[in-house]
Amino acid sequence: MSSIHKGQAKENNLILYVDDPDELDWDIEVDTLIIGAGGCGLTAALAAAEMGSEVFVLEKEKSAGGNTSLSQAMVPAAGTDMQKTAGVKDSPELMATDILKKNKHGSDPELTLHISKRSASLVEWLRSTMNIDFNLVSDFLYPGHSVHRIHTNSTCKGEQLVNELLKATERFESISISYNTPATRLIARGSDSSVLGAEVSIEGFGKNLARAKKIIFALNGFGANRDMLKQYIPEMLEATYFGHEGNTGEGIRWGEALGAELACMGAYQAHGSVAHPHGTLLTWAAVSLGGYQVNLDGRRFVNEYHGYSEHALSVLDQKENVAVEVFDERIYQTISGYEDFQVCVEMGAIKKFENINSLAHAFNLPENILLDTHARFQKAARGKSTDPLGRTEFGGPLKPPYYGVKVTGALFHTQGGLKVDKHARVLHENGHPIPNLYAGGGTAAGFSGHKGPAGYLSANGLMAALILGKLAGEHAASSIQKNDS
Ligand SMILES: Cc1cc2nc3c(=O)[nH]c(=O)nc-3n(C[C@H](O)[C@H](O)[C@H](O)COP(=O)(O)OP(=O)(O)OC[C@H]3O[C@@H](n4cnc5c(N)ncnc54)[C@H](O)[C@@H]3O)c2cc1C
Repeated sequence: MSSIHKGQAKENNLILYVDDPDELDWDIEVDTLIIGAGGCGLTAALAAAEMGSEVFVLEKEKSAGGNTSLSQAMVPAAGTDMQKTAGVKDSPELMATDILKKNKHGSDPELTLHISKRSASLVEWLRSTMNIDFNLVSDFLYPGHSVHRIHTNSTCKGEQLVNELLKATERFESISISYNTPATRLIARGSDSSVLGAEVSIEGFGKNLARAKKIIFALNGFGANRDMLKQYIPEMLEATYFGHEGNTGEGIRWGEALGAELACMGAYQAHGSVAHPHGTLLTWAAVSLGGYQVNLDGRRFVNEYHGYSEHALSVLDQKENVAVEVFDERIYQTISGYEDFQVCVEMGAIKKFENINSLAHAFNLPENILLDTHARFQKAARGKSTDPLGRTEFGGPLKPPYYGVKVTGALFHTQGGLKVDKHARVLHENGHPIPNLYAGGGTAAGFSGHKGPAGYLSANGLMAALILGKLAGEHAASSIQKNDS
């Protein structure tokens, strides 16, 4: 296919501006164009199609999933039937309070409450209408959540979530997904920046112009874009990036070029427990169930219980950007069923020791210092002394045999992006929605504070992806029906 520009078009490498859409020869015309087939894009597609919209989803990779596939599919929701059955008392107000407490009031309180209010209906809708597997996690309280409100599937795997979302899309003839199809530029009206469509590269067919009544950005953030990391999150530029390579930030750049307001660009989620050099995630449960970390000098360096996201910076501040995580048989047995942990075991990242002396030798740590660190930790864990680093949660003293694993800090995904309203419409710097444009997931500004890793409450990521995706899909479809911009 080829496209001929009939009239005068003003263009740059981000946006092709036209005065009249009929100036262009469009190759594709749809109601709703969704860019990105991760959790946000697929949820938006289902919501829009359910309301009668014809949907075209573009995915630049050869398969769907993005970061959503790499996740543990953990989604927070307040007031679900599953919580009621389990006797959990929760409310959207409490959920919003927890989010705002963690991000130090670094997200819009009204939007935060709105998202929290829509969380239960999102999970119930996906579960009962779209056949997506969700169960309440009730054996483990995720740090920062006041009550059990994390829902995930039976495998705790994002891959399962994505496969089920894809299966649900097959029920709608009105949804088409095109792989190996990156959106390369946005097309907008010169006079008011209203979005008209996108330039799309389709494998084997070259550049195509896709026209849409509504466009939803679901292409995540900029974790894989080194220039943007340098600009907004320089402290993680040299850290391992643990997210999806497709997250290169173009949605945020397009929005910015149209005059959208950017927010929270310095915020991100990181993790302080990635096995090194294996590059596999050791679940944080090894720490929260009672393990600790030491640096290469054999000393603990922070209260490990502060949160896995902010802990990444604590580890990266140590010699060689690494730490050694120490735990015992009880913890090993408790978490041995976790798939991530099993991968670490299979890769030989986790080593077993009869005593702390042999652990010290194996990791080349000063033996006397590690023995002293361990003794002090044990005393605090028995409640016989106060932990000098302020840790109060221990799970009891550790007992031999011990396990050790070298870990580092890694960047998981960025949390800054385009500011949106309660319908997920992208807001211009002048406070008004940019006509026809929506964003969710990592392309939208998140709920994790303005800067740094500490404002991320567990599962803020999929919350923003799935809930904003549903809001965007619904509003796009209903506006098309009403012929609104
Ligand atoms: C290891 C790991 C574990 C995690 N676990 C959890 C968890 O349990 N709970 C939680 O809440 N969060 C978790 N997160 C974060 C969560 O995965 C993300 O916040 C969420 O998946 C974002 O969804 P999304 O739809 O915005 O982006 P994605 O799922 O990344 O989807 C974006 C898609 O857009 C595509 N794309 C990009 N650019 C273009 C383009 N130009 N044209 C077409 N397509 C494009 C990408 O290829 C990608 O497929 C985790 C992250 C990681 C890395």
